[in-house]
Amino acid sequence: MRRSALPLVLVVSLLFSPVVFAAADPTYTALRASRPDGRTITLTNYVFDRDVLHFTLNGKLHLLAPVEGKTSGAVFIGQGSYELKPATNYERRQLAINSGDDKLTSIVDQFDSAVFLGTALVAAAEKAGAPVAGTPDQAALSRWDNYMKRQRKDLHTNMHVRLLQELLNKDEPVFVGWVDGKKYPPAALIVDPRGADDVRLTPLNSGGEQTMMVVIHDTRGGVWYSARYKSEIESGKGTVYAPLADAEHYFIDANIKGAELSATTVMTFVAGANVRVLPIDITSSLAISDASFAPAGENPTWTPVAFIQEEKKEDPDAAVVFPATLTAGQRYQLKLTYAGREVLENAGDGNFTITRRQNWYPNVGTFTDMATYELRFTTPQKFEIVGVGEQVENRVEGDSRIAVWKATHPIRVAGFNYGKFKKMSQSDKDSGTTFDVYTNPGTPDIITQINYYLAAAAEENGGGPENIKVNTASLAQSAMADGINTVRTGNMFFGPLADKRVAITQQSQWFFGQSWPTLVYMPYVAFLNGTIRNTLGLNGAKDFIDNVGAHEVAHQWWGHQVGTKTYRDEWISEGFAEFTAGVVAQQTGGWPRYNDFWEKARHNILDKPRAATISNQDAGPISQGIRLATWRNPGAYDSIVYSKGAYVLHMLRMAMYDNKNGDTAFMEMMKDFASTYAGKTASTQDFQTIAEKHATQSLHLTQDGKLDWFFSEWVYGTDIPKLASKLDFTDSGNGRYKVTGSITQSEVGDNFATVVPIYVYFEKNSFVKLGSLVLVGNTTKPVEVEVALPKKPVKFAINAMHDVLAK
Ligand SMILES: [Zn+2]
Repeated sequence: MRRSALPLVLVVSLLFSPVVFAAADPTYTALRASRPDGRTITLTNYVFDRDVLHFTLNGKLHLLAPVEGKTSGAVFIGQGSYELKPATNYERRQLAINSGDDKLTSIVDQFDSAVFLGTALVAAAEKAGAPVAGTPDQAALSRWDNYMKRQRKDLHTNMHVRLLQELLNKDEPVFVGWVDGKKYPPAALIVDPRGADDVRLTPLNSGGEQTMMVVIHDTRGGVWYSARYKSEIESGKGTVYAPLADAEHYFIDANIKGAELSATTVMTFVAGANVRVLPIDITSSLAISDASFAPAGENPTWTPVAFIQEEKKEDPDAAVVFPATLTAGQRYQLKLTYAGREVLENAGDGNFTITRRQNWYPNVGTFTDMATYELRFTTPQKFEIVGVGEQVENRVEGDSRIAVWKATHPIRVAGFNYGKFKKMSQSDKDSGTTFDVYTNPGTPDIITQINYYLAAAAEENGGGPENIKVNTASLAQSAMADGINTVRTGNMFFGPLADKRVAITQQSQWFFGQSWPTLVYMPYVAFLNGTIRNTLGLNGAKDFIDNVGAHEVAHQWWGHQVGTKTYRDEWISEGFAEFTAGVVAQQTGGWPRYNDFWEKARHNILDKPRAATISNQDAGPISQGIRLATWRNPGAYDSIVYSKGAYVLHMLRMAMYDNKNGDTAFMEMMKDFASTYAGKTASTQDFQTIAEKHATQSLHLTQDGKLDWFFSEWVYGTDIPKLASKLDFTDSGNGRYKVTGSITQSEVGDNFATVVPIYVYFEKNSFVKLGSLVLVGNTTKPVEVEVALPKKPVKFAINAMHDVLAK
């Protein structure tokens, strides 16, 4: 991505700013300046235990200068060690994968210095011995300065925002241990009662998992460990903190000039408990120049608010600090003014790429927190805005265009596309949905590139009439067809969407589509036909290109109508969207194309990419979410969350399919799920509960009506069975046939249960499900059955519809 090297000059907004410029928060300033102040605690065989972390320290703790009467950290110099004993087998497995030691049972390492942040460790150590005053130790000071340099230059995470929260929001003690181990790469060991993702070292939405090990390393880095407290896992009970702010409405008044965006956002929100410091998510490419707040209501009186946002090249995580604790449950408005040049990127000939789609406006949580929106854009007259929701205004005023878009029911995230657009609209009677396809009428750089490659390829082939060119308008029709097919399929399987209009807009990124509520961003390559793809040598991307349209439109249900609770539930968005793409393939290409879709998915799941040291299936279960992507196999996340996630839903569909009622039971389950969780977030457990309500007899392997067996095998497990069959038949006369043989399951755990369907084939592509056989563990079961059939069969076989994911 191209970045502007020019510093931002905010003269205009400063001159016209109606409020007094807020001073920096003094507590933050003091915290930020706090270094070892000479107080030390000598530790001898001092043991510090917090959840699954066990530290032993021999040496000196050099305390940071206190702020507001509390010590928020210390430098340790001496002999130290730690052990992390994972609370679950999933996390033990994840540690084994990340560390590269497959036999690993716990992480044990030694260090001779460390930086501890938060009040937890110092408060505990003070009980072991009172601090002794002295002059600051040079080694401790330099260790601290090194840490601060790292926070700003490498981590780009402002840990002081979390420390300020701990002090001013009166949080339970936080523990962060920065250790440079002797065996493992540098790591942060975190125990945060609000959830370890609150320290913002990782974008993971961990749903309150308090304990985390985040490793900082060029190749091996990542979240090695993340789990709830061991005590909570064992008792099955836990506390999840309510968010600090629940946003209800955003009013974004934005001005675009060239590639610069400047804006003022007013967020209306309900305050949670004990809020003085409120972290704000906004891209570091946008510099905040002003912040103020007011109680919600007509004619607000704005009070300046201190804000935190360090230099964008350093640790720019933003936050605001209210002058006093907000009243919990009360409604407020927060107004932030900001500007920057990197949210939009010029893509040539009047087109722009929106590069910061999730945090181009200050927010307190997209995707998990729903709100209504009003987006008001002032742009040069020749450009158009395509926003989320409905366009309520689009007028020209002098050289400017003013466009207003409103989302009147709560959505998870707001966004827009921007440039010169040609709009093509079509209302589909069948689905009741209108599609607006926006294409770029000019020649954006990417089309110039594509045509350059096409011309070069034609020349190589001797030129001539096959010299083909693409233009953006010709690409609209295929997007329209994808959209209509997907919404028809979605309506039939999942029920109707709240919004009856969807915009599909072109974007310049090659291999990347994205879906916002009512607004889909589609890559140009998705619209190229087979001949052009072939000429460009893009056949390897055929599956992506075939399915990306349906996948992105399907996110209107999965991801937007129904959100996901945590990163462990991400398959409910990505896997379900991918499943939908499979069903759309079936609507356009029949059962053979559907079957082919799952054969490709199966290969993808079982594959071991060339650069990987573990196969996709061994990278972990679906429930590890994005953490499946490790240095051992970076692509495993896609294969498992997208493909295997989709396959799990397909397996439920096939198990619930019956020759008489078809997909009725499955559709009822999906519609129930989509409507029950519309506007909410769902976890895997939530989906399992709905599935149990609708499960057909074929899925009831246990007497308790539960589907624990299915979800623990497929969502929380990694085993994939190998299935083999040997089935013969003899004609018994009178239309009766005797089937004999056996079915074998292998390569699974002892309790792994599979319902193996048996099909009878009358011709190559004509088959009917006859029944099924339950296999548990590694076993061979005999088949001996006599059946009456309407005509002479060709053969009997298992798993004809990829009913069960198998090797
Ligand atoms: Zn997706």
